[in-house]
Amino acid sequence: MNIILLGPQGSGKGTQADLLVQKYGLNYVEMGKILRSIAESDNQHAKTVKEYLNKGDLVPDEFVRLIAWDHINKQDKEKGFLFDGYPRGLAQYDHLKDMLMKFGKKIDWVVYLYISPEESIRRLSARRTCEKCGEIFNLVTNPPKNPEVCDKCGGKLTQREDDQPEAIKRRLELFGERTKQILEKAKQEGVLLEIDGERAIDKIHEDIVDKLWIK
Ligand code: AMP
Repeated sequence: MNIILLGPQGSGKGTQADLLVQKYGLNYVEMGKILRSIAESDNQHAKTVKEYLNKGDLVPDEFVRLIAWDHINKQDKEKGFLFDGYPRGLAQYDHLKDMLMKFGKKIDWVVYLYISPEESIRRLSARRTCEKCGEIFNLVTNPPKNPEVCDKCGGKLTQREDDQPEAIKRRLELFGERTKQILEKAKQEGVLLEIDGERAIDKIHEDIVDKLWIK
């Protein structure tokens, strides 16, 4: 089963992705994380990628295509995939479908987890990431014992540059513009599942699992 999970920043998409990956044993493709690790590496494109990330702008499609291909190609396709943060925009969506077709696969579901823009900003402004181990906390919904120290490894907790209010607004605008087209297309193709993301984590998960099998 191949699933694309879409949702505005702060929708809890990562949490739901983890639950689905565990339940169905899927390969997890988290594009934001892949790009951030490239930005911090000695890869020849690191500096360029970092500039896009820090501004909250999308990394150009040509580059994302190469990375996606490279990543997907290395995985066991029979296990299926959960795509998170990818595709963003119709061009990436069509490209992903072509890529999967080459492996005799298709997109089975596009799960859209929706929350309001106000809720997005509220949740993201409170997000803190550990500089050392990458653990993510939320000062409101999942607070660390000390707001500046990671509970897991004692590393320093910081706010990602793209979690600052101006960058969040920009990311939300981009998300809305680019995602609308994917949602419309997925609806036409009969693979869209719309899920209310402003509920408890387990309720949302149950709802997704129930609906994944109704075709
Ligand atoms: P995320 O962790 O999903 O919020 O992504 C963080 C940042 O990574 C985004 O603001 C973009 O700059 C970049 N990014 C993630 N996924 C993509 C993608 N599919 N295409 C282009 N840029 C991306």
